[in-house]
Amino acid sequence: MSALPADVQRLMRPSAAALEPYDPAFTPVAVNLSANENAYGLPESAHAAMVEAVAQAVANRYPVPLANDLRAALADLHGVAPEQVIVGNGGDELLFNLFLAFGGAGHTVVHCPPDFSVYDLYGELAECEMRPVWRDLETFALDEEGLLEAARDASVTIITSPNNPTSDLAPRALIERLCQESAGLVLADEAYMEFAPEGSSCVDLLAAYPNLLVLRTFSKAYALAGARVGYVMGSPGVISALAAVRQPYSVSSLDQAAALAVLSHREELEAVVAQIVRNREVLREALLAMEPLGVRVWPAAGNFLLIRVPQAADVRRRLRDEHEVLVRDFSSAPGLDGCLRVTVGTEEENRRFIEGLTAILRGE
Ligand SMILES: *Cc1c(COP(=O)(O)O)cnc(C)c1O
Repeated sequence: MSALPADVQRLMRPSAAALEPYDPAFTPVAVNLSANENAYGLPESAHAAMVEAVAQAVANRYPVPLANDLRAALADLHGVAPEQVIVGNGGDELLFNLFLAFGGAGHTVVHCPPDFSVYDLYGELAECEMRPVWRDLETFALDEEGLLEAARDASVTIITSPNNPTSDLAPRALIERLCQESAGLVLADEAYMEFAPEGSSCVDLLAAYPNLLVLRTFSKAYALAGARVGYVMGSPGVISALAAVRQPYSVSSLDQAAALAVLSHREELEAVVAQIVRNREVLREALLAMEPLGVRVWPAAGNFLLIRVPQAADVRRRLRDEHEVLVRDFSSAPGLDGCLRVTVGTEEENRRFIEGLTAILRGE
């Protein structure tokens, strides 16, 4: 992507002119472990149901703005009221809407880097005052006291659990305390929660805290990154605020139909998610055994692992060029020196990654 020319930048709003077009540095490779997608895709019967549902979708009419059928099914799944759910064009749209509705000049957004880069991107675009509370850069543990203090008068506080790219869970007790002690909203971004141990989610806290929001997506465990569907749960009043700022037709009828079909086949997906979790532990063991080669790996609750390797940028390039394996390079991101993020793939994909990495680090 080319940089913004100066004559174009001059015409832009300052918060937008400061940005660079998002470039995930995709290249077509045999083994793509760079974007935290579900490597297996949908099981056959779920896929067939999705194709059938999309074929039946009415495309000459505008979609139902609030995706009522999908909203009702999600409410049912999580034991909340439909008015407590809003569906968006990916979780990303809902993050954008959150900053649009609750951010802006004079509104502070607290978050805990290293975390999801989209928070800074959208927060700055919406001219929020971003207040980072950095994690410990050795363990990536949250600075709990610093966070509680920073969140006290913030408009929005974001906790990512499991966090991207560090893959660790946030303590539920901390999120509960944030809800109690912050005057503003607390968003638990649970984009990867389906891969975490039972009981890690804070969806059940929604009943007690009207300032809590929980974000989920169909892009990761549900294997629908291409469809662009995410959702946020919260109290009806806050959900209404998100509905007020959204583009009315942002979620197409085709995507609504696809998500609803996949949701009704979620039992079949559970086996896929369990397989990915097993693969993650096998991959983690293999990486732990590579410590003599200079590899460091952190515990993981998502479908990806954060690792640190010598000459990380070079390792990533060689994995791609010599082994057809793409991972995500975070080594130039603040606080993530030498770090790569590896999505858990199929058993075969993980084997190819480990073989490639071993060869590179042994100097072969
Ligand atoms: C992937 C991701 C999302 C949402 O992604 P969408 O594809 O837009 O639904 C939200 N938060 C985090 C931390 C993510 O990694």
